[in-house]
Amino acid sequence: MSKLVVANWKMNPHSIGEAVELATNSDVAGLIICPPFIFINSVGDSIKNAVLGSQDVFWETAGAYTGEVSATQLQNLGAKYVIIGHSERRQNLGETDEMIAKKIKAVIDVGLKPILCVGETKSEHDSGQTKAVIERELKTGLSYLIDSEINQLDIVIAYEPIWAIGTGVPDVPADTVEITKFIKKTIHAINSSLNAKIIYGGSVTSINADDFLKNQDIDGALVGGASLKSDEIKKIVAIAKNY
Ligand code: PEP
Repeated sequence: MSKLVVANWKMNPHSIGEAVELATNSDVAGLIICPPFIFINSVGDSIKNAVLGSQDVFWETAGAYTGEVSATQLQNLGAKYVIIGHSERRQNLGETDEMIAKKIKAVIDVGLKPILCVGETKSEHDSGQTKAVIERELKTGLSYLIDSEINQLDIVIAYEPIWAIGTGVPDVPADTVEITKFIKKTIHAINSSLNAKIIYGGSVTSINADDFLKNQDIDGALVGGASLKSDEIKKIVAIAKNY
């Protein structure tokens, strides 16, 4: 099974010119590039090998929702994947599991693939609540798929321990493997027909990527900071292709 590498540019870079340059220089097969909304069109036009994604979406299809972007709009720009429930949106913008569930439905309804982010805070981690937090995020976030007739659907779950994001301190790969196995089991209980890839995110670089990607139970990586350097993200994609 080929591994996925997802580049989450977050609120970077500053201009269309820089976005086009970064996209052009990062344009390799096996990479999903998720730029800010305002650059999606230009990045989509600049890539031939990488796949286009989005960092967020709104749950309604059209109407009076100032500042929001719909799944159909993203689809019409050529996006194939949508990151949903990133911890930065949960923590900074008050996004709840219920809002996330509506976004998951909106994306699936138009045929885009969701990348649902789950993960625990440092204090939840230290107090042994990791699995309980993830189970809640999965069960509520994917509630649309419980007992649903939808089957053979491709979804991606990104396990992103919040304390590992942007800190330079990644998870211990053996611990990640344990959690990815737990996520697979939980997804199976939600809907046994889903094709779920479970990827890891949190301070992945070209130096540590192999420690995660060599594991059969880790299906790829979600990369933030390191995706802003084209050489770095291309090295990570090359590592993923070894497996
Ligand atoms: C992220 O944006 O989800 C992320 C994992 O960021 P970083 O790679 O910078 O930790």
